[in-house]
Parts: sequence; structure tokens; C-alpha cells
Amino acid sequence: MEIGKYSFGIGDRFAYQGKAQLQAMIRAKQAGIDITPVWNKSHREHTITKTSPDSVRKEANKAVEKLGWQGDYFVDADHINLSNVDSFVGSSDFFTLDVADYISKKADDLWIEDFVQKYKRYTGRLNIDGIDKPVEINENLIRKIASKVLLAVIEAGKIYRRIESAKGKCNFVAEVSMDETALPQSPVEMFFILAAIADQGIAAQTIAPKFTGRFNKGVDYVGDVAQFEKEFNDDLAVIAFAIKEFSLPKNLKLSVHSGSDKFSIYGTMNKALKKFDAGLHIKTAGTTWLEEVVGLATAGGEGLDIAKEIYTRAYDRFDELCVPYSTVIDIDWGKLPSPEIVADWDSQKFANVLRHDQTCSDYDSNVRQLLHVGYKVAAEMGQMYLDALAKYENVIGECVTENIFQRHIKPLFIE
Ligand SMILES: [Zn+2]
Repeated sequence: MEIGKYSFGIGDRFAYQGKAQLQAMIRAKQAGIDITPVWNKSHREHTITKTSPDSVRKEANKAVEKLGWQGDYFVDADHINLSNVDSFVGSSDFFTLDVADYISKKADDLWIEDFVQKYKRYTGRLNIDGIDKPVEINENLIRKIASKVLLAVIEAGKIYRRIESAKGKCNFVAEVSMDETALPQSPVEMFFILAAIADQGIAAQTIAPKFTGRFNKGVDYVGDVAQFEKEFNDDLAVIAFAIKEFSLPKNLKLSVHSGSDKFSIYGTMNKALKKFDAGLHIKTAGTTWLEEVVGLATAGGEGLDIAKEIYTRAYDRFDELCVPYSTVIDIDWGKLPSPEIVADWDSQKFANVLRHDQTCSDYDSNVRQLLHVGYKVAAEMGQMYLDALAKYENVIGECVTENIFQRHIKPLFIE
């Protein structure tokens, strides 16, 4: 089972926007770009929304059938580990093996030394196509990297083999993710991570490193764009090189998590992908949930009331909602409007504040990030929230499709 060159992670908290999301892939196809949709939902999200993995499979199948989608599509067990993978094997055919917790935990010294011996052939000045200067590598560097990442990759191997024994060889797509760590991984670390992945027999088709800079949820990239550009280009060069060196799957590509709304680096990514003729997987779950709220606000009436209610409850539970996401949000509490102020907003004002249009003077990244983590509040509203999604389906669906196609797919893959 092979995933196409470009693929788009379109997680959906409440499983109502499958059709609207797929519509964006159809519009891309009409514009001449093939993008494989991948519906992803993590164990953490399932726990918060009290849903089970098969609900994502049902949503994906339904959307595909309703719109007559002829291309491939996948259902991603996002950020799974050994403790929860079993509940996903029946319904998923894409697995994101999350081993971030094992980064920086040291493997057995003997394993580390074996690794150093095996790969010391790369010491010296290593030339990699697409990287200007040769990469300086010595045994100590390999040892340092192995101490940091080897145990994590060994753990990924355990999860991979568990999935393989349940689903059979080549019957699923595997991603190795290390994005939810404190420090970014450099391209040279990526090279040896890929060596270890090959050693473990993991036929990884996507890899999600942590990049330099802040990838805050639902808002633009914060960091040094020039440094990101260099790192992203070097990562693409390293992947192309490692595929040949370690006989990894030919379609192995980068996966960018928290990838939605990073408008200031999409141009850079687009250029680099074309330069290296490389593929990309990008995960964008949260942005669809925010478009649901934009859509509710835009619809007015009861929809606007619900949007305001979500804001009020999220504002009142700020600490509780933000703590689990502390590494991926930056909210200035003092700048958040009080619920009393928000109560006076009309449809247009609420939508303008929330919609990610940085040219609009009403746009407020604090409100956007708070609502991003506020999906728990909507989940607790239960049927009332779901009824509103059904009632305002058309308005919301347009917001969802427009956001994915115009603001994401176009700058990343087309323009
Ligand atoms: Zn992630």
C-alpha cells in the first residue's frame, strides 16, 4: 500500500466535515493537482470527544461514496503507541507511530556502539546532493545522535511489528513521528534516524520531525523563516539521499504536523518541494474545527449563540484547556476580550475575529488559539452542538472547503 506524492491530513473533531474536506481535494484535482486525503484522529482526540476509531472510517467512507471520489484515501491512527494501537488496527490503514516520549532516553550502550560501528563509514566530510557544504560527521557525533534517538526508533519498530502482525505486510502506511518534543531535529540527526528506521525494518513512507520555530495550533508560523527554509531544504536532500543509502521506500516524504495556517512558510515549502521534486504530507486537523465555529458565527441566530457560548466557557476554563497544549499555543490572556464584550458582537464581527485573515484588522490570534483548544467544550455540549452542525451544514461546509483549498492547498501546491 503506497501513499501518493502529496497527501493532506484532514482530521475532523466531530466527523461532520468529511464531504466539505473532500470537496477541497476535488477542487485541487480540477486545478490539476492530485492530493490524497487522509482522515486522522488521535487517541487523545477520541478520548476528549468520546468517539471510537471506527467513526473516522465511517466518515471517510461516507464522504468518498457521496462525492464519488475515485482516488485513494486513508484513515490515520494519529499519534498512537503500543498502549493504544490495538483499538485502531481494524479501522485504520495509516499509522502515525509516536515515539517522542522516548527521544533522549538512552538505549543500551552495546546497541549504541553497534550502531556507531555500522555507520562510521559516513565519518569525514559527507557530500549530499542539494546541500551546499559537505556535512562533517565523526564517531562522537554518531554516538551522540544514537544516544538521543536510537531507543525511540527501536520503540517505533515494536509498534510497527505489532501493526504488521495484525494487518499483514505492506497493507498499511507507516509514519514515524517525533514532532512533539522540546528540541528540533537537525538534518544530520534525521539522516541517522532514517538509518535506524531502516535497521528496524520499518517501511516508513512519511517522517515527522520537529522543525525549528513554533508551530502553534491554528495560527501562523513563529520563528526564523530563513532558518526554516534551510532546514526544510536540507531535510528534503537528506531524505532523497537516505532512500538510496538505506533502501527505504522510494516515496518516503516529510510530514508536517500542526501544519495548518503556517502561511508565512508555505511559499518556501512550495518552492523546495518543486526543487527536489519531493512529496509532502501535512496535518491540518484543527483548522477545520475552527472553520466550524466561523461557519456557526457566520450563520447567525442560534449558530452565533453557540459560537459565543463556546467562547465564554473556554474563557472561563482557560487554564484547564490550555495546559495539555502548552507547547503548541501562545495566548496572551490579558488581550483576550471578555465574554461580555463578545456577547455584543454580530455575525460578521465574530467571524472576522476568528477567520485566519491577517489582512483583516479584526483578526485576533489569541481568540483563535483559545477556541482551538476549546473543542472539548463543544464536545461537552453533545447533541446540541451536533444539531447545530447539521442545521448549518451548508454555510459551515463552504467555510471548510474554502479554507482548505484557498488558504492551504493553493499556496502549498499550486501557486
Ligand atoms: Zn503531531
